[in-house]
Amino acid sequence: MTRKGPEGLLISPIRHGTVIDHITAGQALNVLRILGITGTTSEEVSVATNVASGRVGKKDIVKIENRELRKEEVDRIALIAPDATINIIREYAVVEKKGVEHPRELLGVVRCPNPGCITNTAEPARSRFIVVRNGLRCHYCDWLISKEIAEHIL
Ligand SMILES: [Zn+2]
Repeated sequence: MTRKGPEGLLISPIRHGTVIDHITAGQALNVLRILGITGTTSEEVSVATNVASGRVGKKDIVKIENRELRKEEVDRIALIAPDATINIIREYAVVEKKGVEHPRELLGVVRCPNPGCITNTAEPARSRFIVVRNGLRCHYCDWLISKEIAEHIL
């Protein structure tokens, strides 16, 4: 999926869409998974991994043409790439640039790993997780997700 543009640029500019920059190195493919982008969807996507970056050492970059991310999508990205910046592009220009927000609570974003949790029953409550210092805590059963958060994102 990586393309080389002119002058050795890793990724060529896009006309309309979203550039997600400063993704934690190694998380680009999880970002795509969170956004529901797979090899069979039609988006034109460019990915650069392990790009040198003064700020975080190495970073990943994802560019998605003709798609502007919604807030819930950005919230999901924050879980695995807390330093990411979201750039909305129109006519090759950045019209909006924002850091990911760090919500205190996540509704319907993460699946509780506890099979007995009320959110995993036949008539499930909507999942609700509180963001705590060492991970995410289920509002209903107190289950703590402290690593591999990407595996639990709905
Ligand atoms: Zn739970």
